[in-house]
Amino acid sequence: MDFSYILNHLGEDRDNYFGSVSPPIIQTSNFAFKSLSEFRASMGNEFSTHMYTRGNNPTVQILRKKLAALESAEDCLVFSSGSGAIANAVLSQVQQGDHIVCVKSAYTWTNKLLKDFLPRFGVQTTFVDGRDLVAMEDAIHENTRVLFLESPTSMHMELQDLEACAKIAKKHNLISIIDNSYASPIYQRPIELGIDIITHSGTKYINGHSDIVCGVVCASKEIISEVFANEYMTLGGIIAPHDAAQVIRGLRTLPLRIKQSDESTKKICAFLAEHPAVEKIYYPHHPSFPQYELAQKQMSGCGGLFAVKFKTDSQEKMEAFFNKLNRFLLAVSWGGHESLVLPAIALYNIPGKEKSDMPVGFVRFYIGLEDVDVLIEDLREAIAEM
Ligand SMILES: *Cc1c(COP(=O)(O)O)cnc(C)c1O
Repeated sequence: MDFSYILNHLGEDRDNYFGSVSPPIIQTSNFAFKSLSEFRASMGNEFSTHMYTRGNNPTVQILRKKLAALESAEDCLVFSSGSGAIANAVLSQVQQGDHIVCVKSAYTWTNKLLKDFLPRFGVQTTFVDGRDLVAMEDAIHENTRVLFLESPTSMHMELQDLEACAKIAKKHNLISIIDNSYASPIYQRPIELGIDIITHSGTKYINGHSDIVCGVVCASKEIISEVFANEYMTLGGIIAPHDAAQVIRGLRTLPLRIKQSDESTKKICAFLAEHPAVEKIYYPHHPSFPQYELAQKQMSGCGGLFAVKFKTDSQEKMEAFFNKLNRFLLAVSWGGHESLVLPAIALYNIPGKEKSDMPVGFVRFYIGLEDVDVLIEDLREAIAEM
């Protein structure tokens, strides 16, 4: 895969804009036609022409070409959020009376879509442990249409065997969808393993600077043209041309950024694994991970997202640890330049929410682009406070 060509050149028609190295932001809502016949032709074929920016916009199209190529997909659409992308992808494949099989512990708002939102329209979901392929196949009924995967998941980093899942989906005539945000197209390439649709939170690695919210759906031309003509145009959850230009800029450094996160995370996991305060590490490319072999097989790298269970049941000790950390921000999300921590205890005792089943000592970490030695020193000092 020639990532360099895709990220530096593909989709950029520089002759059309004065040789400009960076593409112009075509900041327009609509496009004028030279003749009535051209206008009429576009009316009948909005997918392949420029009529209105809720459909096509040239800046967004550059981004689409790059993202599709990164995933070995024929085409893609970009949305104003990852959740929007997931909702569009799922909605495009179901109708009233249909059934979905989805992995347990998928992203919060994926879960909400499948558990609370779609049942209002007569679409039911069965949630299965994605590590158990027998349970997955058993959950498939006559009316099942979609197999929804997220591998690894973003809290406990559980994997599904993508090649095996794609086979199950084909055998039962299902559309397989995967949320590929964790590994990014640099480290995991689901279409090459037989998966039909890929979604991303572009907010994470793809933009990578914690300044844009966006989402991606990659698939065959046939699927994408259908989504375009239906969900995309109707629900209107598009990315703005200016944001698309920012994401193109973010993409230029995607392989460098994720590689840096990956290398630093491996060093930090090695440090933590040796530390007496640590009970368990959840990182697919750490040798202690139960699905280590599968992770090696289907992911060429792992990036910066992992979790740790510390050997303590004391909220006070965990609070002392978080209060001492200097170089990690307390925040959701991940995939940007900055290192983050998401404590399980931040999810405790929230009015109106189900009780969290994560133990006191559980913490999700994201490792950004800082000097790894500085991060390790910060962790060493904060753990000493526990
Ligand atoms: C953040 C995230 C999403 C949602 O993306 P947004 O861009 O925040 O809407 C979906 N899946 C995973 C795994 C995520 O981490």
